[in-house]
Amino acid sequence: MNIRQCAFCTKPFQSIGRKICPECSAKADQDFFTVRDYLYENKRASIDEVAEETGVSVQTIKHLLKEGRFELIDASGVLLNCEACRKPIKAGRMCKPCKEKVSNEMQDSLGPQASRRGRAKAGSSTAKLKNN
Ligand SMILES: [Zn+2]
Ligand SMILES: [Zn+2]
Repeated sequence: MNIRQCAFCTKPFQSIGRKICPECSAKADQDFFTVRDYLYENKRASIDEVAEETGVSVQTIKHLLKEGRFELIDASGVLLNCEACRKPIKAGRMCKPCKEKVSNEMQDSLGPQASRRGRAKAGSSTAKLKNN
């Protein structure tokens, strides 16, 4: 069992990979619709404006942004940063270049045997050339 402390209400809960408890998560789901409707009418709203006008906390809005539920066009007031290079981003956890880098590295680690075999082959053919 994986007991975590909820990032919102600090209550311990049984985590299935989420950072917030089921209660806060249900509330965030409701808040999502409020924020989404507001952003539909006010596309250039900043995170502070959204929080003020909808009554949804900045913490919840940031949480929803991190989950990639929506984007803010005006991200200037948003304190979201790429987890790898710390560049400001509008949504998610990493910027596009870092995301691509990570997925490339994952592919590399999936096939180390293949590349080692390839290198050994190249080495033996060089040795043969030297012997001749
Ligand atoms: Zn909670
Ligand atoms: Zn990055």
